[in-house]
Amino acid sequence: MKTSAGDNRRHWLRAALSWMLWPGLYGLGLLGAGMAFASQAPLLWFNLVYLSVALAIAVFERWMPHEPRWLADDGETPCNLAHTLLTKGSAQLAAALAASFPIAVATVAQPSLRISLGIWPTHWPLWAQVVLALVIAELGLYVAHRSAHEWSPLWRFHALHHSVRRLWVLNTGRFHVIDSAFKAVLGQLPLYLLGAPLAVFAWVGAVTVITGLLTHCNIELRTGWLDRIFSTPALHRWHHSKVLDEGNRNYGENIVLWDQLFGTYFHSPRRPPSDIGIDGHIASGFVGQLLQPLTAEGVRQIMGVSLAHRHECSSSAPQPMALQEALERPTTSTDVSTGCPRAR
Ligand SMILES: [Zn+2]
Ligand SMILES: [Zn+2]
Repeated sequence: MKTSAGDNRRHWLRAALSWMLWPGLYGLGLLGAGMAFASQAPLLWFNLVYLSVALAIAVFERWMPHEPRWLADDGETPCNLAHTLLTKGSAQLAAALAASFPIAVATVAQPSLRISLGIWPTHWPLWAQVVLALVIAELGLYVAHRSAHEWSPLWRFHALHHSVRRLWVLNTGRFHVIDSAFKAVLGQLPLYLLGAPLAVFAWVGAVTVITGLLTHCNIELRTGWLDRIFSTPALHRWHHSKVLDEGNRNYGENIVLWDQLFGTYFHSPRRPPSDIGIDGHIASGFVGQLLQPLTAEGVRQIMGVSLAHRHECSSSAPQPMALQEALERPTTSTDVSTGCPRAR
């Protein structure tokens, strides 16, 4: 079949964009953040930058999707939006604006704390302080995220994020609020204690939300050597795999340094799976999803051990690693909260 000159141009444009979009949108997002921070209304302008990047990603997802079947509506959009607003929104902006939580915390809480060790290298250039802060915060985020996969009392909250059957920009904020709070504490507390200044918190917050938007996007992208440093969509798609050996990897939120050091980095020339999700059942509706991990029956449903206990306990879908190990060895002990053999 003959291809027209127009088809050829579109093909080459998509190929060029697949290389340019990740660094381009990342760079524009950070540039916008810098301009917002220099303005009179940094929170407002940063949220506008955030929404603009999200909108641009949503448009490119339609035009050059990584997985066309992920474009279909899964009925979870209102819940995803609600979780995003609850988790990320600050009290006064939650209803209208997303993703301001880390910056709001830095603005309100940080100056009031008096427990800083005061050893932060404030004489370094700001960019170097931000890089240092990202490396330190990432260790806390890594521990929090890995614990959420390997320790069943936390997996019951994190499972909500992994229950999605498709990845796209709006899944970025689909986290249970307790899951998010735990990550925020472990990620930010070391920076508070070391005495990092407000500007550093603001930049760590900005980098984290821009990276998160891109990490879950459904755009066909080429990220090459960036996959060795940053938490790119190519890496994070493996993290959503149903296969335990692929899903319990790539915990990094912004950078993958700690995955590299602790041996949980995973990448493959194979195409990541498009059939993603968990075996357990997640409640429908925002309030139901919030309350589900807090009840014994809800936890059993999340773990996939409600009625067909034997079958679902042997599933290969991502479950807390400790739980999975416990399931595989003979035991007489049973965890009353999950219905499964007790995790180590
Ligand atoms: Zn995860
Ligand atoms: Zn994710």
